[in-house]
Amino acid sequence: MKKVNERTLILIKPDAIQRGLVGEITTRFERKGLKLVGMKMISLNEAVLREHYAHIADKPFFAGVAKFMQSTPVVAMCWEGLQVVDTVRKITGITKAREADAGSIRGDFAMSVACNVIHASDTVENAKKEVKRFFKEDEIFEYDKSEYMHVYAEDERSE
Ligand code: ADP
Repeated sequence: MKKVNERTLILIKPDAIQRGLVGEITTRFERKGLKLVGMKMISLNEAVLREHYAHIADKPFFAGVAKFMQSTPVVAMCWEGLQVVDTVRKITGITKAREADAGSIRGDFAMSVACNVIHASDTVENAKKEVKRFFKEDEIFEYDKSEYMHVYAEDERSE
């Protein structure tokens, strides 16, 4: 089952924590057939936010995003699957949530640009860095998921 080993990083943001959406969001990924390989609640400090959001650190809205992201702990999750980074971005929907496709997580649960319920890695390269940023090696788990027999065709799950 070596092909199904791409990983992506999700952060469930403070608006979703406050609104009690952790279960709903997690269910979306579970139903899709993705494999949960890491999950924890953490508080984000200024340093990790500056690193994680380096690409928006010079934007006028960065201070507001940093304050929002520290307003409650977040839930960090690592999901595994075949081409999971792109798949999860599709399930997530675009940044401006009120214009996100219906059926996507942002499209179904959010109205804001800043408060858009989850973060999802945007490229395979960034996903690798982000999983390392939020999880230690022993916080990512390897196990056989019996459901894979029915989620993937044989040629999709083996080399
Ligand atoms: P995404 O999370 O969709 O990958 P970006 O990486 O562009 O989007 O931005 C990171 C986060 O910064 C967004 O999810 C959102 O919370 C916040 N953000 C982005 N653009 C704006 C904006 N114009 N105003 C306020 N917050 C923003």
